[in-house]
Amino acid sequence: MLTIAELFKTGLGPSSSHTTGPMKAAFRFVQYLTENDMLAGVARIETQLFGSLALTGIGHHTPRAVLLGLSGFEPHTIQPAQVDQVVTAIADSGFITLPPAQKIAFSRAHDLLFETGVHLPYHSNAMMFLAFDADRNELTRRIYYSIGGGFVLDEVEAGRNQQTEAHADLPFQITSAADLLFLANQQGVSIAELVMMNECSKAKQVEIEAQLDSIWQQMSACIDHGISRTGVLPGGLDVPRRAADLARRLNNDSSDAAVKAERSDWLNLWAMAVNEENASGGRVITAPTNGAAGVLPAVIKYYLSFVENADPAGVRTFLLTATAIGGLYKRNASISGAEVGCQGEVGVACSMAAAGLAAILGGSNEQIENAAEIGMEHNLGMTCDPIGGLVQIPCIERNAFGAAMAVQAARLAMLGDGTHFVSLDKVIQTMRETGRDMSRKYKETSEGGLAVNVVEC
Ligand code: SF4
Repeated sequence: MLTIAELFKTGLGPSSSHTTGPMKAAFRFVQYLTENDMLAGVARIETQLFGSLALTGIGHHTPRAVLLGLSGFEPHTIQPAQVDQVVTAIADSGFITLPPAQKIAFSRAHDLLFETGVHLPYHSNAMMFLAFDADRNELTRRIYYSIGGGFVLDEVEAGRNQQTEAHADLPFQITSAADLLFLANQQGVSIAELVMMNECSKAKQVEIEAQLDSIWQQMSACIDHGISRTGVLPGGLDVPRRAADLARRLNNDSSDAAVKAERSDWLNLWAMAVNEENASGGRVITAPTNGAAGVLPAVIKYYLSFVENADPAGVRTFLLTATAIGGLYKRNASISGAEVGCQGEVGVACSMAAAGLAAILGGSNEQIENAAEIGMEHNLGMTCDPIGGLVQIPCIERNAFGAAMAVQAARLAMLGDGTHFVSLDKVIQTMRETGRDMSRKYKETSEGGLAVNVVEC
């Protein structure tokens, strides 16, 4: 079970697990040093990256994320435009300033190590920070795991049942889709209203509504920013940004053919705008991850643009419903590409968006659950094989497909009465097991699939 704030977070591109998570882990390590009165004695920090972080960390900007975290920044406290400035200053000076003012030497070659052959047992995205004093004595070491969606666990947390402990005080304990349907129907409320009742145990409804409005405003701003930018994306593949040109053509083209194609073309535009922004290291809202951040905003914008009587209350209902569905995947499977492949990222986003759209189209709780199930069923087995370790190909277009599939899933569910053969719980279980059986080559390692069959130029 996740709260709105946990699921929809400010993320810095291009990856929630490889950029946002490592930044938060490095930040936490410095906090740990401070809280344990060790900071003043630190002369050097070594960071070791394991598993998927070691294999695709370069393309996912993990090194600079670590430097930013050690320098005291979190994804929501740094503007994308500041990032290069901070990282360049560290590279030029050979020093990092740990907050508030502990200046330590830093060498990229010696202090940031990629342990490509090593996989720690709890999760593929593992990292270890070691602090040394001026005489090279080790002061302490800590392991952290970036488990997807910007969530970070230390070793102790990884050994506990976080899901149960974190929200034991909420009035409605939602551990499965069956629980979700039962509790909502028992209370005589929609899924969105049930989530709101849980949220209201911690804050006033008016505050939660403001929070939801702010999430959508940030998503919408990200679409606009993505559309406003041209040129090629960073990383060396020379992938051109396409959103600006597509927007220009859609805005100018009033031919019959364009009008007929309009809805899917606009969905493509909005999803790709967000993911081009993400690929360039921009600011996005995790939904549930950075790599899949374009699906929900595109479908919300579809609702606001094409559904009659769309209003801000509908957007809130969408996000609340999506929160319930995203929480089920996080609890009972995974939202990490490094753990279950892209079915856990774009697949989950598709499922969340399908449920959200079904809810605001007036679907019953059963139709909403059906939409979420359809949204994942046809993404089962989807691998993660980003070319060059960059979150660009296939990721950007994949978000457009995720958005289109979400609309289809919602519409299909709305044609029925909610009765269906495969339950959402079964499809989540299947996704988890498929991810477990998937070769490591297809789990954000860039060791298989498109990543090895397309030559980088
Ligand atoms: S393929 Fe999917 S899971 Fe992998 S990096 Fe791209 S968006 Fe993320």
